[in-house]
Amino acid sequence: MPAYVFSGREHGCAELIAIGSAMGAIFEFSRHPPRSPQYSDVAEVSAFLQVYDQLRSPLREACGWTETGVCELYQFCAYCWRRSAAGKSLCDHHAVDGERSSASTARYQAGRRLLGAFERQRDAMLTREILEFHERDMEVGVIFPDQGLWAWLCERRPHVAEEVQVRAAPWSDEPLIDHMIGRLHTYKGPALTTRQAYDAVNARFRRQPALLWPLLLRAEAWLAVRNQRRANWGGRRNQLTGV
Ligand SMILES: [Zn+2]
Ligand SMILES: [Zn+2]
Repeated sequence: MPAYVFSGREHGCAELIAIGSAMGAIFEFSRHPPRSPQYSDVAEVSAFLQVYDQLRSPLREACGWTETGVCELYQFCAYCWRRSAAGKSLCDHHAVDGERSSASTARYQAGRRLLGAFERQRDAMLTREILEFHERDMEVGVIFPDQGLWAWLCERRPHVAEEVQVRAAPWSDEPLIDHMIGRLHTYKGPALTTRQAYDAVNARFRRQPALLWPLLLRAEAWLAVRNQRRANWGGRRNQLTGV
């Protein structure tokens, strides 16, 4: 059971306890396969969909559900924010390639080493931001702004802003979204079906940028952990491991 449930109880606030219980259920649920259609087994996706349900602006329909209730939009690599290859658990960046090249093996091993810290960071961010959303009377800008994405990104996704090199000067929303998708979520490999899958979901992200939230949460958590490790290694080892 996540820690905030207990902080809610100590605080004696019924609403916090209710939120804590709901989040606990999400976390618990996330370890099991989805029971019903239109329910993601990814904790941050479940929480995200619930937020927009509560705002009475459901984004569920925009997520591209299959007949068996699988969410097409959020097929995340287990190690990062990119799309896993069809039927696989890892993206093309993290999967060992057919030739078992040393570069792909190094990326796989680096991803595996970061996994525990990445998941803890993601869970902490998710808990903090969902709680803040409720504490601020369900203010949608906490989750994703209707406009002014650049300022939100710099404040709440600083490692992403750094990674895609947009911190220096303000960007307007549309070019920023295009730029982020280009830098974070574009497939450059040879597989046509993978490229088509990326193109299809990226078109959805462009139409409804709020859908990027779970992806940006994962990217921020991953980059924060990766940068921390880089700092600890003094910058040398990541050159060898390709992190
Ligand atoms: Zn209270
Ligand atoms: Zn990956």
